[in-house]
Amino acid sequence: MDGHRLSGRALPVLDLPPAAGTGARRAMPQAAVAEYVTDAATQPAFHVWTLGCQMNRSDSEEMAGALLAAGCAEAPALEAADLVVINSCAIREAAEQKVVGRMGALARLREARPGLRVVLTGCAVRAANQATLRRRYPAVDLFLRPDEEPELVARLGLASATTPGALGGAAGLARIGRSVAATADRLPGTRAAAVGEGRVARGSGTQAWLPIIYGCDKTCTYCIVPFSRGPERSRPFDDVVDEARHLGAQGYREVTLLGQNVNSYGHDLPPDPRFAALRGERQLGRRLDLAGRPDIAALLRAIDALRTADGRPAIPRLRFITSHPWDLTDRLIAAMAECPSVCEHLHLPVQSGSDAVLRRMGRQYSVAGYLELVARLRAAIPGISLTTDVIVGFCGETEAQFQATLDLLRTVGYDQVYAAAFSPRPGTPAARLPDDVPPGEKHRRLTALLDLQEGLGLARQRAWVGRSTEILVETVRPARTHTHDGPAEAAPGEGMAWLSGRNRHNRLVHVAGAPDLVGSFVTVVVDHAGPYALRGRLA
Ligand code: SAM
Ligand code: SF4
Repeated sequence: MDGHRLSGRALPVLDLPPAAGTGARRAMPQAAVAEYVTDAATQPAFHVWTLGCQMNRSDSEEMAGALLAAGCAEAPALEAADLVVINSCAIREAAEQKVVGRMGALARLREARPGLRVVLTGCAVRAANQATLRRRYPAVDLFLRPDEEPELVARLGLASATTPGALGGAAGLARIGRSVAATADRLPGTRAAAVGEGRVARGSGTQAWLPIIYGCDKTCTYCIVPFSRGPERSRPFDDVVDEARHLGAQGYREVTLLGQNVNSYGHDLPPDPRFAALRGERQLGRRLDLAGRPDIAALLRAIDALRTADGRPAIPRLRFITSHPWDLTDRLIAAMAECPSVCEHLHLPVQSGSDAVLRRMGRQYSVAGYLELVARLRAAIPGISLTTDVIVGFCGETEAQFQATLDLLRTVGYDQVYAAAFSPRPGTPAARLPDDVPPGEKHRRLTALLDLQEGLGLARQRAWVGRSTEILVETVRPARTHTHDGPAEAAPGEGMAWLSGRNRHNRLVHVAGAPDLVGSFVTVVVDHAGPYALRGRLA
């Protein structure tokens, strides 16, 4: 097909209703794509390797969508790709090392495939470390900061499906990379264009990520994110609601609103008469000027109110992550309690159970303030499931301060805790504090915390046994011959498979059922609880 003849035509629409729950990246509508794949010989096959958080996974969906729209195909594996895009995580040194450790293998792959090009993006690429990137990542041709990701296709010389081109040489990519100015404040707008033009290759047909705010304005002294992702920038309210409406129309069953701190959504948007009644309101920490601007509570209510043509909720399940306790308002708690689609689960990172450590971390709340928030949440949303993040072995953490964190875990009763040992990140304020808890001691504290939480979590899991719970079936998974938490699973039965999904409280549930249930809601009677998952039978 001659590409020039198509000039001026719209890009192929990739964001079409998916085959429910295949788990694989959604198949492209072949008829439309065939028309636009103009010169297969020059269009690279790409592979996106994503590390880290949900925001990275969402960003990777956008980059993959842009590459597909430019006429590239997805390679079956990294080794078969002409273009490898690494979406990195820098939250801990170990995450960065995963990529550094692959440089040798990528260099060998380049020898075998001289046309191979490698792009590194994500939080490992920061303005402050540009001078050292080439040394640290020698197999990479092009470095893009997270805010430059929307430029991926243009910087590779693959401007559009109608003007395809071969990947530039390594020297050319480096030159382009140096010439592009920061585009951080354009991110909210580029997302709207990507959604509008169908350039988001979503990884699931039933659950979707929906970014609502980019960057982070917080001052957590250990954290690299404000340096890698820049200041907070909220997407316009109507853009977010439109994307949610579009997802509902496509049949998505669950939407998760994303941001490093979704609770401060809207404070940077211009005042809007629709939100004139809204005042700045904060229970803890600084007061953001929210007067006349939307907040996340308004956003949840607007998405909850979306209906299908026959009056059903367009998005049956709505989640949001991550919430900094600093910005968790009573308005948000009320919206969670009153919106039927908002799930009964909140991830509320606490980081430490010691006020002195929280102060050194710059978290801006006290343990008492955090516990008061938990009490308000539990009063408003009975049975709400709470999960959290904890850092052990932060600078100067004493044994007594560590024990205070264990006490906090006992007091709150989290359903799940994501814990990690403190890892100093270059350029963050904490990197100037003495990293004085030795590695062996960090490891001991981490193991003790995880052991404690395993018992606490298991007790909470057992409360589900005998109850019926609705899950959204996400995947088919192989049967296990032995499990971490109980007897081996029986074979699922003729024509059946082991299915996995989550209930509204975010509990992972396994059940035997027909594979075509993926993407559906089913009710499960729970008959076994392990520390990390429940198992049951279809009701
Ligand atoms: N925005 C979220 C919040 O309010 O906490 C968290 C985002 S951060 C990407 C995810 C988690 O990584 C944090 O909650 C923290 O527990 C952990 N983390 C961040 N920096 C870390 C570091 N330097 N060492 C160890 N863990 C770290
Ligand atoms: Fe990092 Fe704190 Fe921002 Fe979370 S709120 S991304 S931990 S600086």
